[in-house]
Amino acid sequence: MFGTRTGCAHVLLCPFPTSGHIIPMLDMASLLLSRGLKLTVLVTPTLLHLLDPVISRHASSGSVQPLVLPLPSVHRTSNLPWPLEDMYALCDLAGPITDWFRSHPSPPVAIISDFFLGWTHRLATDLGVPRLVLESSGAFGELIFTSMLRDLPKADDPHDDESFVHFPKLPNSPKCPWWQLPHLYRLLNVEDPDWEFFRNSWLCNSQSWGAIVNSFDELEGPSLNQMKKEMGHDRVWAVGPLLPSDGDRTAPSKRGGTSSVPVHELISWLDCKPDGSVVYVCFGSTWTLTDEQVGSLAGALDSSGVDFVWVVKKDDVVSIPDGFDERTKGRGFMINGWAPQVQILSHRAVGAFVTHCGWNSFLEGIAASVLMLSWPLGADQFTNTMMLVDQLGAGVKFCNLGNRAVPDSAELARLLAESVNEKGWAEERARVRKLRKSAVEAVKGGSSAKNLNALVKKLNELVA
Ligand code: UDP
Repeated sequence: MFGTRTGCAHVLLCPFPTSGHIIPMLDMASLLLSRGLKLTVLVTPTLLHLLDPVISRHASSGSVQPLVLPLPSVHRTSNLPWPLEDMYALCDLAGPITDWFRSHPSPPVAIISDFFLGWTHRLATDLGVPRLVLESSGAFGELIFTSMLRDLPKADDPHDDESFVHFPKLPNSPKCPWWQLPHLYRLLNVEDPDWEFFRNSWLCNSQSWGAIVNSFDELEGPSLNQMKKEMGHDRVWAVGPLLPSDGDRTAPSKRGGTSSVPVHELISWLDCKPDGSVVYVCFGSTWTLTDEQVGSLAGALDSSGVDFVWVVKKDDVVSIPDGFDERTKGRGFMINGWAPQVQILSHRAVGAFVTHCGWNSFLEGIAASVLMLSWPLGADQFTNTMMLVDQLGAGVKFCNLGNRAVPDSAELARLLAESVNEKGWAEERARVRKLRKSAVEAVKGGSSAKNLNALVKKLNELVA
């Protein structure tokens, strides 16, 4: 239990309990701890192990504690689209958190919570402390989501999925085909109570006292300014890219989960490959291709002749054609389950990354300066791809069909072969190298480091 120390804030962190959300929250926790803050991290029993590396690194100071509360069950008969079920369930933690808070000798002075936990804004208000939202997506993604849910934009032609939805209030007035908008917006009926719940929950984010964004000023300056404008204050801090701290790098396979393969085997395999010659293929923590798409991608990896590391999920395996392993022996390394992604991306042998363009993967690709080949599937991944390819010119569209159709295997093979040929996409490679330089400078004493210091100062000012 923490003692009171003037000028050293105790903050409650509430991540959303899935990998893509808990990973950046814990990376941020490491940064806050390194600047002297005391943290309590809300965690469900099944995810407690993810906190172990952070807790063990700070064991001597005891400055981080878990608040372990079971995920309440939801009694619903209908199938709710992700992440609504967990969003509903987590609301029931407001009571136990309040009890914990009220009985704590030195309760938190602020709550930092994921953008899917809008209800914590009201909880914080009831407890008399400010709430800061951690944007698990970037500023551009946040603006698109908020515009959708606030302004309810329609497609130019409501009968045509390909027709565009416009965002005229955002920097550069982006537009996006209807079918590429996040599924929750397209699928939920506006009169549906689930829709109302999701909308209200999301809109609480812009009413929050502050926002912490996993991004950096040099990457998203205009969008971050727009966020400040929309929130009506300047308490928006871009502190990214959030990556494992140097301490975590000694055990990077533990970040977000335990690697499904012996890490030394994988690294030895990569060590034998020439610089920039390997394509790393991974679609994040939860997203999957259709069986036919897995078949097409397998065919492409086979016929392209490239060296590759492919992270497959359990169900993908059945769709991989017979004989694939033998045909790609020596040049293919399959990982069935969890991969140490940041460690793989930062290996000198990896030159290209086939990615679904989840926001963490997007930033990790930049930080490793690899050529990203984007195959977005849902959520914010299409708008992240728009940013990567159309706005920054720092990546390539690998497949722009989502889960709707099967791409031509020969075309994928051509793109794969070109991605590890230094002559292909020279401009994109140069731009991603430049972005990496800005990202490194931002966190090593530049804009993100300064924003982080400003954030910590503000949090410490909240201590009575
Ligand atoms: N990740 C990983 N190993 C895997 C799959 C994912 O380390 O096998 C990590 C990845 O590095 C990233 C996060 O999980 O930090 C996935 O977040 P992202 O936003 O890219 O995608 P999501 O899973 O949320 O769709």
